[in-house]
Amino acid sequence: MDIAYNTVIKRLVASEELWELEVVEKDIYSCPDCYVPLAPASYLRTNKKRPYFRYLKPHKIDCAYSENSSLIKTAQSKSISNKDGFPFPYPSKLIFENKNNQEAINNDTDVPRANRSKKKSNEYGSGKTNHHRTVSTIKNIVRHYVCFPNDRHVGLTVPYVSSEQTTYNSIFKNIWGGVLYSTNHIFFSKIYWTSPEITEEHISIRLTAGEWEDGKQTKPCKLRININSLSSRQRALVLRELKTTKLEAMKNKASVNGYIFFLGKQDKNDRFLFHTDSHKLISCLTVLKSAKI
Ligand SMILES: [Zn+2]
Repeated sequence: MDIAYNTVIKRLVASEELWELEVVEKDIYSCPDCYVPLAPASYLRTNKKRPYFRYLKPHKIDCAYSENSSLIKTAQSKSISNKDGFPFPYPSKLIFENKNNQEAINNDTDVPRANRSKKKSNEYGSGKTNHHRTVSTIKNIVRHYVCFPNDRHVGLTVPYVSSEQTTYNSIFKNIWGGVLYSTNHIFFSKIYWTSPEITEEHISIRLTAGEWEDGKQTKPCKLRININSLSSRQRALVLRELKTTKLEAMKNKASVNGYIFFLGKQDKNDRFLFHTDSHKLISCLTVLKSAKI
């Protein structure tokens, strides 16, 4: 599984978050739906495979995350929401774990800043938050978007997007080269596999979005990640996620594409350039070519 409920910080976490931890605790993760214990796996620097959560006991019989669950299969062809909404806990709220975050945004409205967290683990959350739906990176939100193509009308709260955008459908935007976007979104594009440009200030990633002529890309869109406020470990994480996705994409070339999703904005002066500034606001993963995206 690539999602788990962290019983200490009381929110959903993505398996890639294990990369960032100095010490990985083994007995604090459980299934978000049926609560069977999950063990972190493949999170060491020496592991080439992406981290995941391994279940230690079988999921309960009606758990949505059970490999026997028909929900995910059904969800590919039709909506599985019912009159009460989505049938199991899903990531519906992105929070930044820093109370000064809004201040940072007010001082610099360029891009969201999610990486300034200094909170201790026992300070997360508030009584008003449904912890089983709260995440602090976009990774599980992105997976949910990909896995449930017919349920993108469900509610999603993301800071720094327009207050009118309250669903998965309205927050996600597939980038088309040359189009002007006036507000922040979770943008996405296939990755054009060249080496990222790395400077002291930025990591720049070429996207397949952009202008094409006779099968050749004449004007690429680029994502520029401002890494000024990232630690060297966090910078390495961005590159690691990119590299892991590239390996996965190359291995299954016939069936998948490598994508990057990011919460960010378009440059005011260059509509082919996009900005973001944190590893928490980025998700690189492969998506089946047959998937509706
Ligand atoms: Zn379960």
